[in-house]
Amino acid sequence: MAHPLSKASVVGVIGAGAMGAGIAQVAAMSGHPVVLFDIDPVAVDKALSGIAASLAKLADKGRSTKVQADAATRNVIAATALTELKHAALVIEAVAERLDVKQKIFGELESIVDEHCIFATNTSSISVTAIAASLRDPSRLAGLHFFNPAPVMALVEVVSGLATSPAIIDTLHETAVAWGKLPVRARSTPGFIVNRVARPFYAEALRVLNEQASDVATVDRIMRDAGGFRMGPFELMDLIGHDVNFAVTESVFRAMFFDQRFTPSLIQQELVSAGFLGRKSGRGFYRYAAGDGNAEASIEPSKQAAGRVRIARSATLLNPLVERLAKAAGENCVDSTRNVPGLIAEIGGALLLITDGQTATRRARDLEHDDIVLVDLALDYGTARTLAVTRASQCSRAAFDAVVGTLQQCGYEVASISDVAGMVVMRTVAMLVNEAADAVNQGVCSVPDLDLAMEKGVNYPAGPLKWADAIGVATVHRVLFNLAAHYGEDRYRISPLLADRYWSAATFYPSI
Ligand code: NAD
Repeated sequence: MAHPLSKASVVGVIGAGAMGAGIAQVAAMSGHPVVLFDIDPVAVDKALSGIAASLAKLADKGRSTKVQADAATRNVIAATALTELKHAALVIEAVAERLDVKQKIFGELESIVDEHCIFATNTSSISVTAIAASLRDPSRLAGLHFFNPAPVMALVEVVSGLATSPAIIDTLHETAVAWGKLPVRARSTPGFIVNRVARPFYAEALRVLNEQASDVATVDRIMRDAGGFRMGPFELMDLIGHDVNFAVTESVFRAMFFDQRFTPSLIQQELVSAGFLGRKSGRGFYRYAAGDGNAEASIEPSKQAAGRVRIARSATLLNPLVERLAKAAGENCVDSTRNVPGLIAEIGGALLLITDGQTATRRARDLEHDDIVLVDLALDYGTARTLAVTRASQCSRAAFDAVVGTLQQCGYEVASISDVAGMVVMRTVAMLVNEAADAVNQGVCSVPDLDLAMEKGVNYPAGPLKWADAIGVATVHRVLFNLAAHYGEDRYRISPLLADRYWSAATFYPSI
């Protein structure tokens, strides 16, 4: 059984920028003496005053006592040379994201600290194996990937390189727990867990935009109100900064030997080229200067509900939507006798179906029924405020309006988008699941660690694999199969693990 580092152990932190300062604060709050070094002494001074201010604020808010805050502040001392880290039991490096710089630092450290000192790098994108490779003892180095801001974000990815000692991984894992963090174990691969699995969250929205199927405000609204995500993809990219977000995508794309799954977006590249970096530059997808207006999400105006609704009762996550339709239609509701996959209801003459990765137009042709309306995935149809719908090119305006009016009668706000395959939430979630399944299949991490990483690292409303079980593995599989056929791109190829779950009628978690 592994133990965390004792509280008396000295923690060295190298790099006193945004991450180093936050990590130093976390270690100091847990009671460790912390020695903070940066080649720029001004950065250390700034970090020390920032840590003191942050700890004082926590005490003011009642999250710690003043005595604890003062003690934690005193725990961090500045170093003016690397040699001052000689008593450290753990050194965490958070300097510039460059392999040569990181290797040089750890190389120097090897002749400063004793042989039991653990080396950890906070790198986001460099191979942990490569950083360790130039050491005399590469088994002593692991990744300890904190999220920004480190004192706030609970997730830490504990990353093993090819040579990393399993005992060191265990110690770092237990130490992160002792520091109040939620650690997950990951193998050193591009993007580790979070920065890899999150790529489709941005990429699918950018593709929907590229196809002009909707606008940024509407996609953001759909992803928040129907998908349950805390922020929409475009507002989140604006917050992260397009330079940073694009660089991460590009680095994962390159590191994955140009696998189409990770192809960056021309739309985002243009924003970077223009200097429209998001909030920090005053303009990204949205404008942030005072007085700048932004277009609102386009929500359908109030429409007349259909007189008659035939519902297709369902034991799936669609059931709350069917129930809402039945309740709103009251006496005008009867059961449908049609046997159409994904049918939710017959509304007037139109068929309302859940998107399955095909376009509405294609489904209308296959079903030989012009008036086809598709609804997008929602995290919870019982509580969703907004639903996205699309109609087949053959569908009449009157039939579509009657569907919109009927959904409005159920209390939904309806966002109508163009007929893009897999709509917005469904294609995004299907691709998140696919990437998650591939990461697990390739031994990057376990199923529970994957979900925990996405819930705590990027605040997803549910881990992708848990979400897949809730939607139904078969549904996710069908959506990806149809997206692959529709686009003819390798991007949508199905992960072998997802295929295995599908063909064996299994789930990612054992069913209770
Ligand atoms: P930053 O630019 O804010 O800080 C880097 C600090 O390192 C600077 O103060 C710089 O003076 C110092 N430095 C550079 N070379 C040095 C050297 N040779 N010796 C000592 N100090 C040196 O960067 P950051 O955002 O804190 O990122 C640091 C690391 O953490 C990077 O590897 C980055 O990829 C990773 N990371 C960043 C984030 C994030 O959101 N910013 C999140 C997770 C991981």
